[in-house]
Formats: sequence, C-alpha cells, structure tokens
Amino acid sequence: MRVAISMLKHNLGDRRHFQLAEKISPETGSELLELVQPVKVSLDITNCGAYLQAQGTIVTVIKLNCGRCLKAYEYLVETEFNENYYPVEVRKNNQKSISNKHPVVEDHDLEISNEASAEKVFFSGNFINVEPEVFSSIQLSLPMRQVCSEECRGLCSECGINLNDEQCDCQHDELDPRMAALQKLFNK
Ligand SMILES: [Zn+2]
Ligand SMILES: [Zn+2]
Repeated sequence: MRVAISMLKHNLGDRRHFQLAEKISPETGSELLELVQPVKVSLDITNCGAYLQAQGTIVTVIKLNCGRCLKAYEYLVETEFNENYYPVEVRKNNQKSISNKHPVVEDHDLEISNEASAEKVFFSGNFINVEPEVFSSIQLSLPMRQVCSEECRGLCSECGINLNDEQCDCQHDELDPRMAALQKLFNK
C-alpha cells in the first residue's frame, strides 16, 4: 500500500490526492482482519516542510463475530486517516529537509531520540507505505461491543440454540437476579 511522493518533495504546500484500493498484506497482520472488500483509502498528502501530512478516509468491509449469537457478520468500516510522515534521510552533502528549495528540517531533527521515534512515523525515499497506519486506524475504529444487530436475541442460555433462528421451550427468566430478590421481599 505505497504512495509515490517524489513529486511532493520539492515545494512547501504541494498537495496531491491519492486513491488506493488494496488488501492488507500478511506482513502487516492481515490475519487479524478478515476483509470482505479491499481497503479503500482516499488520501491528501501535503508537504508541510518538516513532514508530509497525510489526511483522508478509510472505507472497507470486514467480518466480525457477534458477541451474542457468535455468528460472523459483515461490518462496514468508515474511519479517518491522520498521520505525519517525517523524512529520515541523513544527507551526506549537507542537504537538508525533504525540500531543497525550502529546507525546513533542522539538523537536530535528524538525531532521532528513542522517545521521538516512538511517536513519529518516518519514511525514506520516494514512497510512503501507509499500510501499517491504515491497519491500526481500522483496528482502533472497531466497536468494543460487537453485535450482528442491536436486535440480536443471542443464544439460549439453557439449550444453546440461536434464538434469532429458532424458538425453544426453555424458561427464560428475563428478570435480573437482583430485581428478583427485591420482588421476593415485596411479595412477603
Ligand atoms: Zn448476533
Ligand atoms: Zn433453550
């Protein structure tokens, strides 16, 4: 999932639009996401001097498992992409920055401390691989509570059948146990 940024390196403020539609490669961790559709990434990348700013949207469909009925269901992912990519090239001939005309990257930026590199995302050369950040944006956008539908009735706690598909004869005590205890008190 690479974007060619060589034409963006020369002038501060240069911006280009990119449209990608790709799968996540196994190296990035595709086994953690079961894609139903390729990941569509719409990106604007801007030369901000010290870094390239990438902003856009991510759309795809993935498979999740319902926490109530345990069935797989399709989930539409629509999320945002925001990342700044810093050039990591250390030039030998005293050239600075991603831009020759507008050198903005100072020398001290090239001495990357461990703390800074933990937060910043770097690139080198004429391409940026946005895939790791696309992947983590998708992961962060996933719902905490995964249900196939708000109306999902789940599995019967007694016999285990899927109550969306079938009925069973089990007693379904709808009452919260704490409420049931209270009701007992009132009925005395
Ligand atoms: Zn369900
Ligand atoms: Zn049952």
